[in-house]
Amino acid sequence: MGPRHAPIPLLPSVDVPIRRELQQLYDELDKELSALGAACTACGDCCRFTAFGHELWLTSLELTVLLDAAGPPGPASDGTCPFQSEGRCTARDGRALGCRIFHCRLDPSAMERLHETFMERLRELHARHDLDMTWGEFLSSLSALR
Ligand code: SF4
Ligand code: SF4
Repeated sequence: MGPRHAPIPLLPSVDVPIRRELQQLYDELDKELSALGAACTACGDCCRFTAFGHELWLTSLELTVLLDAAGPPGPASDGTCPFQSEGRCTARDGRALGCRIFHCRLDPSAMERLHETFMERLRELHARHDLDMTWGEFLSSLSALR
């Protein structure tokens, strides 16, 4: 299934090898970002989605792994990610590809290249494990789960 603005579901379970592969993909992305000198002052602005004019999209697999790592979210007030606390991310270990790639000071073309490369790898991971690649918007998916 393709992208949709409607809420995406959680997966009933995620096997350990799949979790490891996803974590490896995230780790490699983080390394590439670091090599590019992507700097973040952790001001938290880009996680205040509505105010920033930004959306986070992710797959059911990413959403399931994020919630497993971070625990249940509180309410999302004012279109801010409910995992943001005092400007900081409380879901760092499980945060999604989109959380990791976006850097406000990174050259947009470098961000686009990383996005294409790592989305393709995410697609391959889903296909290899026969997972539905449903991709949807984060806040609406969290609201539907409450
Ligand atoms: S990427 Fe930019 S806007 Fe987002 S938290 Fe870091 S410094 Fe703030
Ligand atoms: S999970 Fe963390 S990095 Fe991702 S949007 Fe929420 S606060 Fe920001």
